[in-house]
Amino acid sequence: MLPLVAIVGRPNVGKSTLFNRLVGKKLALVDDTPGVTRDRRSGDAKLGDLRFTIMDTAGLEDADPESLAGRMRSQTEAALAECDAILFVIDARVGMTPLDGHFADIVRRSKPPVILVANKAEGKVGMAGAYESFELGLGDPVPISAEHGEGMADLYSALREVFEAAGAAEIAGDDDDLGLRPEDIAITGVPVDEEGNTIGDDPIRPLRITVVGRPNAGKSTLINRLVGEERLLTGPEAGITRDSISVDWVWRGREIKIFDTAGMRRKARVQEKLEKLSVADGIRAVKFAEVVVVLLDATIPFEKQDLQIADLVVREGRALVIGLNKWDLIEDRTAKLKELREEADRLLPQARGVQLVTLSGLVGQGLDRLMDACVKAYDLWNTRVSTGRLNRWMSALIEHHPPPAVSGRRLKLRYMTQAKTRPPHFVIFSTRPDAVPESYLRYMVNGLRDSFEMPGVPIRLHVKKGG
Ligand code: GDP
Ligand code: GDP
Repeated sequence: MLPLVAIVGRPNVGKSTLFNRLVGKKLALVDDTPGVTRDRRSGDAKLGDLRFTIMDTAGLEDADPESLAGRMRSQTEAALAECDAILFVIDARVGMTPLDGHFADIVRRSKPPVILVANKAEGKVGMAGAYESFELGLGDPVPISAEHGEGMADLYSALREVFEAAGAAEIAGDDDDLGLRPEDIAITGVPVDEEGNTIGDDPIRPLRITVVGRPNAGKSTLINRLVGEERLLTGPEAGITRDSISVDWVWRGREIKIFDTAGMRRKARVQEKLEKLSVADGIRAVKFAEVVVVLLDATIPFEKQDLQIADLVVREGRALVIGLNKWDLIEDRTAKLKELREEADRLLPQARGVQLVTLSGLVGQGLDRLMDACVKAYDLWNTRVSTGRLNRWMSALIEHHPPPAVSGRRLKLRYMTQAKTRPPHFVIFSTRPDAVPESYLRYMVNGLRDSFEMPGVPIRLHVKKGG
């Protein structure tokens, strides 16, 4: 039995288009009840190495339960209950409509995990409406273009995660013995070289950056400075105004979307929907960003709250950059930077080597270095290491420092591969996964970070049974 995935959303968001893309051919309407033009239809879908049955639920309408549409709706709700995952589709260009909210309520009530899919996200207009979708409480939207086949790698990752969490990893039907092949992920959209390393990345979206930090660290000053400068500001996108949520601009040819948490707070206040978000606000911003700048006041650095925020960023798996703001107030800069470097690595070992950028938002110094660091952090976060290189690396590491013997028997690590990027996520197969000590895994993570040059990257490493 293949896993069952349902596509849900209001009319016109692109459900049929997505259905057709996943099924890989134009499929005539099947499963039609006479008199009902579009009920449910299903087909065999394929995405990378994932095989599943996909069901288009066009016809899920809000209506009187006694009416035909109403009965259809409860029928569809019943169908949803049996799914393994729901793709809840919205139109990234239009943003949230009341009807989206209504459909969101239905899927939120349903049991299966929901993947929020922001369709029509191709090109520049891209994700204009997607931030608002955070109000739905359905997590980080996956931007795609069903029509142009973009973003399929991200959709793959999201689905894979859901299937794996449900213990359905063997869904990878005709896959190789380990069920994980980076090449399969790659063919869904991310260009790779012969070794399976990424070249470039998914081109559809701008780099999403958020600046977070304690009150008075200088976030507003910094963002105003960044955006106020002559930086080929592309202007607000449709539906987003400069001082509400995010600002888009092009920095050295790269599209950037920077989230203004202060702006988010203002907007929340206006809407009175997201109340008291001083903390939640920052957390949402972190979840939505790819790169997070934790801004510190260099005159009072690494307070408890700063460390908590940085730790959250790492736990959420985001690319981290630390901005040392108010550097204009520091006198012995060389000594101070050395001291802060040591403190960072001691207090944040989970992000060893994280980039520290000295700057002054007030004076306007260090802004280019900050942007450089963000782009670099993003690239590292997207690192993909080929299976060949990983296994050569692992053999050498084991030779140099083998895992400890457990109850007299040598522990064998058989094979290693990278399951995901953003952040890099590695999997090792061993006959006794539970026996691999935590300290050895830490040693391996640090080794990966050094050998494949991923300073500051929140690396994930898991051991699975296999081999
Ligand atoms: P459904 O009612 O949700 O099944 O939506 P359809 O699949 O019928 O699509 C509605 C409209 O959106 C059609 O005109 C599609 O061509 C268009 N559409 C679907 N996907 C995309 C996309 O990725 N980008 C753009 N620009 N248009 C799309
Ligand atoms: P936010 O609460 O993090 O948004 O912080 P603000 O941007 O409102 O800044 C808090 C205070 O720090 C204000 O008085 C700013 O003028 C000051 N400030 C911000 N950046 C700098 C800086 O780079 N150098 C100095 N000396 N002061 C700064």
